[in-house]
Amino acid sequence: MTTSEKSGSKIKLSLEDGTSIEAEKVLVSVGRKAFCDNQTVKNLSLQMNGSAIKVNDRMETNVPGVYAIGDAVGTTYLAHGAFLEAETAAENAMGGKARIEDYSLVPRAVYTFPEVASVGKNETKCKQAGIDYTVGRSFFRANGRSLAHNETVGEVRVIRDKKTNQILGVTMVGAGVTEMIAAARILLGSKEKISEISFAHPTVSEVLKEAWEDAFGLGLHIPPRT
Ligand SMILES: Cc1cc2nc3c(=O)[nH]c(=O)nc-3n(C[C@H](O)[C@H](O)[C@H](O)COP(=O)(O)OP(=O)(O)OC[C@H]3O[C@@H](n4cnc5c(N)ncnc54)[C@H](O)[C@@H]3O)c2cc1C
Repeated sequence: MTTSEKSGSKIKLSLEDGTSIEAEKVLVSVGRKAFCDNQTVKNLSLQMNGSAIKVNDRMETNVPGVYAIGDAVGTTYLAHGAFLEAETAAENAMGGKARIEDYSLVPRAVYTFPEVASVGKNETKCKQAGIDYTVGRSFFRANGRSLAHNETVGEVRVIRDKKTNQILGVTMVGAGVTEMIAAARILLGSKEKISEISFAHPTVSEVLKEAWEDAFGLGLHIPPRT
């Protein structure tokens, strides 16, 4: 965004690409960065990665036996990301061999209305990695329980690697998806065929099953796409 201009109850935003958007409200989301105690960093001679403390996949800093986790290492900036890192660091401090190899497996959740949640790779990451993928989709408006709740906005997208058949990521928008993303996380990497897993009916989670099946062209209520 380059400029904003208020007129009455509307705001006109000019974007870098020359286009403009008129909106009633603007949400400023500036992001976060690590804020570490410089003196402690200096005293311990810790290597930094920008504003964050540099760690390896065992959460160990450049100083053997000194571990760092959470916002200070600038990875996820999420509470459950910090839990995972703290457990990894604690295990390794006790002589274990825990590693965090893939941060994309830490679910992302946005508690808006409708909610947004994702886990694994998204389409942009797949494109960047040159992966040939297909996207299975399913819609809340086609789900019986969502219709009964009158919560029909949203969809689930499941990304399948066409070469390996592996499910790479799930993205969801809709009511309650921040709860459902846990199921998606557990199913990622599972070799069990989703069509052989029974989901209770009528439940909102059937949207996930349907999108998963669609990623294989097997959607029960969605015609296969050519
Ligand atoms: C407004 C807001 C909303 C958020 N919502 C979510 C959310 O919905 N879901 C989610 O997953 N994450 C959320 N987060 C992010 C999440 O809170 C952080 O990622 C998480 O708390 C990081 O954990 P941490 O242990 O690294 O740091 P913290 O939880 O900040 O813990 C650091 C602790 O160290 C203490 N401390 C600092 N300096 C010293 C010192 N010199 N000596 C001793 N103690 C010290 C602090 O007092 C604090 O208790 C939110 C963050 C904010 C700010």
